[in-house]
Amino acid sequence: MRFPLALTTKIAAYIIGHKLRRTDKFATVLQLEPLHTCNLTCTGCGRIREYSTSIKDMMSLEDCLGAADECHAPMISICGGEPLIYPHIESLIKGLLERKRIVYVCTNAMFMRKKMREWMKAEFRKPESGLRKELETKLVELVATGLVSEKEAVAIRDQQSEIKNPLTIAPSDWMYWNVHLDGLERTHDLIVEREGVFKECVLAIKMAKLLGYQVATNTTVYKETDMEQLEQLFDFLSDLGVDGHTITPGYEYDAAKKDMISRLNLQPENFFLTRNLTVQKFAKMEEWMERYTFFGTPVYFEFLAGKRDLTCSAWAIPTRNMRGWKAPCYFMTDAAGTNGTGHYESYAELLESVDWEKYGVVDGVARDPRCENCMTHCGYEPTASLGRNAQPGDTWKTIKFNFGSRPMPTGRGSEVLAYNGVTSGNGHLTGKQAEVEAVAS
Ligand code: SF4
Ligand code: SF4
Repeated sequence: MRFPLALTTKIAAYIIGHKLRRTDKFATVLQLEPLHTCNLTCTGCGRIREYSTSIKDMMSLEDCLGAADECHAPMISICGGEPLIYPHIESLIKGLLERKRIVYVCTNAMFMRKKMREWMKAEFRKPESGLRKELETKLVELVATGLVSEKEAVAIRDQQSEIKNPLTIAPSDWMYWNVHLDGLERTHDLIVEREGVFKECVLAIKMAKLLGYQVATNTTVYKETDMEQLEQLFDFLSDLGVDGHTITPGYEYDAAKKDMISRLNLQPENFFLTRNLTVQKFAKMEEWMERYTFFGTPVYFEFLAGKRDLTCSAWAIPTRNMRGWKAPCYFMTDAAGTNGTGHYESYAELLESVDWEKYGVVDGVARDPRCENCMTHCGYEPTASLGRNAQPGDTWKTIKFNFGSRPMPTGRGSEVLAYNGVTSGNGHLTGKQAEVEAVAS
């Protein structure tokens, strides 16, 4: 199966329950942002720019778990900022798993190996742990393949050293590391504005798979994305044993656009996709969804490929952060909301107060100009998964897609030049400096 049976069943039962109760609007995925602090400054990231004045603030653990209790979404995507910087991340994941939620930890992967070493170290300390022998074998392999250094292996085995937090992030059938990867080495490092990030992502994915974690990847497509190279990335990832992928077109956040002009001297129209360009970029999406393990629905992929129209259901993937429930969607923040902050105090208030008819694109006409070029999964994937705008045959198509067999690794990963050699230094920032220097010389 494309997605584990227990998880698919959980989501299906939840949606069917709401349909039977005729609930008009409900959450399928909660985008939980415990903090906006990040160790990177990716070029297209709206988060670190929109919330730059509160970048050091964070939600309490109680508020995070309370948000999950409040909206009941079966899937929780812990994002940010970089969630592995959040000091209560272990307790948050534990609390969500105890609530039987499917947890995605959306990460740039720079701290993943550290978190996995902490888990190994804690397991080695448990005399009763049946895993110790198996882990010792794996540790030898991790050292042999350079995923853990000799020094780190000594620290993992050390029974005497202090453990700061006995709670760690263990492999679970209900949790995925969701690694941000926007291309092969050069493209990815260019977008995240730091050299070496792609390499670290690959090391973290390899280590996670060896230790039995589930790993997904998430990719945003920009105007400069080379789709052939992306195909190679998915060949490479499928051979690494990655469990699944999500993909979405880049949305032109106001804050990211301003940053691009002022800091990088880049023109946003050269970076973000229009609707027409999105359809061109995703022309092969239906072929890809058969070849690679994409998570989602075939109906949304048909929409991306320009084969059908969908309306926006942003209420189904709400965002909760330290300011409250963001309105109306993950991307836009409107002046309304509790006390004019653009954020509401509760999910119920968000659902009731937002005039949802003001947003999205219907029959090719943008109800709000800011929605004009948006075809992102946050707005449109739930429309497909909830069967809104349904056409005959959609239900069967979706069941076949999700309950059908998982695509096999393509076996072409070894042919891919993943480390495509060209150092990107500080990414787009380097590009700007090079341009300025070229003009000056
Ligand atoms: S890693 Fe994520 S949160 Fe951090 S800057 Fe990049 S896109 Fe934004
Ligand atoms: S179309 Fe996109 S930008 Fe507009 S409300 Fe929906 S998700 Fe937000």
